[in-house]
Amino acid sequence: MLYTEYGKTGAKVSAVGFGGMRFDESLSNEANAELLQYAFDKGINYFDTAPGYCGDRSEDIFGVAMKQMAADRDKFYVSTKGMPVHFPTADKAIEAVEKSLKRLNVECIDFYHIWCIRDIKHYELAMKAGGQYDGLLKCKEQGKIKNIACSTHLPGNDILPIVEDAKVEGILMGVNILNFLYRWEGLVAAHDAGMGTVAMNPLSGGVIPKHAEKFGFLAADGETPTAAALRFCINSPQITIALNGFTTREHIDMACKVADEAKAFTQEDIERIKKNVSENMDAICTGCGYCMADLCSKNIPIANYMQVYNESILEEKDLDGMLDVMDHHLHWGWLVNRKGAAKDCIECGKCERACTQHLKIVDRLRELAMWEQHLAEKSQEK
Ligand code: SF4
Ligand code: SF4
Repeated sequence: MLYTEYGKTGAKVSAVGFGGMRFDESLSNEANAELLQYAFDKGINYFDTAPGYCGDRSEDIFGVAMKQMAADRDKFYVSTKGMPVHFPTADKAIEAVEKSLKRLNVECIDFYHIWCIRDIKHYELAMKAGGQYDGLLKCKEQGKIKNIACSTHLPGNDILPIVEDAKVEGILMGVNILNFLYRWEGLVAAHDAGMGTVAMNPLSGGVIPKHAEKFGFLAADGETPTAAALRFCINSPQITIALNGFTTREHIDMACKVADEAKAFTQEDIERIKKNVSENMDAICTGCGYCMADLCSKNIPIANYMQVYNESILEEKDLDGMLDVMDHHLHWGWLVNRKGAAKDCIECGKCERACTQHLKIVDRLRELAMWEQHLAEKSQEK
């Protein structure tokens, strides 16, 4: 296992982190808790959860494991989270920390995340006087938490104000081998500013293992696309921890094997993958961002919409499936901060001329606008 320092905290964390969001919910808490001990024995020392994960059972599963692992408490790190929209005052934030401490069966949370920053306003809410951050500082003084971090779904460069504010020790964000072109600048800025950087979703929500034949080009000789995607997050020096949601021991074995065997990702590797992603993903938006350079007079976040459309191609989803995807992205994902909507497109064609993949952006936006319309109608019916 590789170990790196998490930003300036002094914590020596494993390059592979245990994400507690994919437990097998058909199993008991006790059976799931065994996975944490197994991962710890394999060298993983960073364990991340949140209230609400796995039907709100994840923190309790962690609690069972933490009790069993108590003798080694100084050898691993526990992380959990709280949303500023749920805990907007210092008092509420303190209550949330105390509740998590109880559920987790620990006396101190090593990394507490201001969770789910989907809009910079959520961050500002956490930081307002008497808000969540002040409550967390109090918890820090009282030894209930050690470090304050932040978990964000903002597109890469939109995290820059958080990095510049320099109030948190690290940032947890969705970055992987398929979307890093779009998020790299923000990630590197956080890393260069001395923050810990934690990558969630290294397998792009399972899309890479599910469509291994489509993603063969990601892999080096003798490697599977899944191993290549894990290697990217585990071995890029700019990424401190690759957080993997584990369901089985085999998942843990695989991630640890990649961490044990792989060489560091170099700048050359990154350039090669950039080239391969562009050349091999014909109908796929690579997230290169060339269409986003102030081209669109309607402020449509074109690349974000195209990333959503990618799912209809890769996942071969039907209308209902795409409505679910769209709904998710409108509230939690790529489309949260949009200033212009797909329906605003005036079909000027500027973005298509700029697109490195020569995508039929206008046609796709028309389809996406239709999905948005369906969702709006559905929510009116409720
Ligand atoms: S075609 Fe539509 S999305 Fe593209 S630049 Fe013009 S208005 Fe914007
Ligand atoms: S230029 Fe094309 S490939 Fe690049 S982000 Fe825009 S839509 Fe995607």
